[in-house]
Amino acid sequence: MSLGEVVKVCYNITSSFLQLQLNATEITKETQRAVLRTRHYFLNDIFPYWNPLNNEISFAYNGGKDCQVLLLLYLSALWEYYMIQICTSQYEPKFHSFPLKKLPTVFINSNEIFPALESFITMTTQRYHLSLYEDKQFSGCSDDMATEFQKYLDLNPMTKAIIIGVRHSDPHGDTLKTVQMTDSNWPQFIRLQPLLEWDLANIWSFLLYSGEPICPLYRYGYTSLGGINNTIPNPYLKKQSNSNENYNKDLNDTINNFPFQYELNNSIRTSNQSNSKRWETDDADLIALNDEYLPGWYLIDDSKERAGRIKIHKNKE
Ligand code: FAD
Ligand code: MG
Repeated sequence: MSLGEVVKVCYNITSSFLQLQLNATEITKETQRAVLRTRHYFLNDIFPYWNPLNNEISFAYNGGKDCQVLLLLYLSALWEYYMIQICTSQYEPKFHSFPLKKLPTVFINSNEIFPALESFITMTTQRYHLSLYEDKQFSGCSDDMATEFQKYLDLNPMTKAIIIGVRHSDPHGDTLKTVQMTDSNWPQFIRLQPLLEWDLANIWSFLLYSGEPICPLYRYGYTSLGGINNTIPNPYLKKQSNSNENYNKDLNDTINNFPFQYELNNSIRTSNQSNSKRWETDDADLIALNDEYLPGWYLIDDSKERAGRIKIHKNKE
C-alpha cells in the first residue's frame, strides 16, 4: 500500500466512525464531536496556512496512543485536503497522484525506551509511511528535547510547523492553544496541537474502534508511556487478588460495564482480524506480567492516567 492508499484507509476509518449512530454510547457520541472538531482544525485553521503536502508540516511521533490517534486523523484530513485540491484543479482526477511518498515525522528517542514500544514504532513507521527522523541523544528532559528539535530543524529547513499529540490534561497542558509558537527557550516554530480537548475516554473510543494495531504495552496495564526506568503498569488497573489490599474498587464498575464494548463490537476490521491480534506481542517481559493488570483502556479517569509514571528526580516534574 502506498501513502496515498493509506490516507484513504484512514479517511474511511474516520468517516465510518462518524456514521455510527444506532445504539452508540454517550462516550462514542462525544468522541464523534471530538473527531469533527479536530478535523475542522486541520482543514480550516491549519492547512490554509501551512501546506501539509510540501513538507512545511512535520509530525512529532513517539508511538503513544495520543499521537497515534492524531496521526490517523491527520492522515484522514490529508485525504480530504488532497480531494479538495483535485476538485478545484483544471486537470482531470486521473492526471493527479498523491504528492507525498512519506510523511515527515520526528521522534526524539531516549536510550531507555521499552523494546515493545521500539518494535511498535518500527512497525508503524512502515505501516503509515513515516519518514521517521530519529534522534537518539535525548536524555528525557524537556530542555534537551528543545535542543534535539533544533537539530531536526537544521536538517529539515522546510519545516515551519510541527503537530503534537498533547492534551489539556497533560502536565502544563491546561493553557496550551491549538496553534501557537514555541516558548522563547525553544527553537522557534509553530506548534499545532489539535487534540487538546480530547479526554482519555475519547482516545480509547477512537483507537479501539479504528481496528489499527495498538502498542502492546497498553494491553498489559500501562496507560502512559515514559522511559523503561520510570514507567510501571498503572496501579489502579491491578486485578483483585488476595494479596492486593489496595484494590481499586472503581474497577468493578468498569469491568461490569466496560465502556468500549460498542467500539470493539463495531470495530471497522473485526470481520477479518480478531481484536486480540492487534496488541499481540512476543516480548517475554510483558508476557511475564501474566495478566496481573487489566488493559490500559479500562482506565478512563484522566487524573489517574499517569499513576504508573514514577518520579525519579525529586526536584523535577
Ligand atoms: P506524551 O503525552 O507522551 O506526549 C505528548 C505528545 O508530544 C505526543 O503525542 C507526541 O506528539 C509528542 N512527543 C512526546 N514525546 C516525544 C518524543 N520523544 N519524540 C517526538 N514527539 C514526542 N514544551 C515547552 O515547555 N515549550 C515548548 O515550546 C514546547 N514545544 C514543543 C514542541 C514539540 C514539537 C514537542 C514534541 C514538544 C514540545 N514541548 C514544549 C514539550 C511538550 O509540551 C511536552 O512536555 C512533551 O511533548 C512531552 O509530553 P508528555 O510528557 O505529556 O508526553
Ligand atoms: Mg499523552
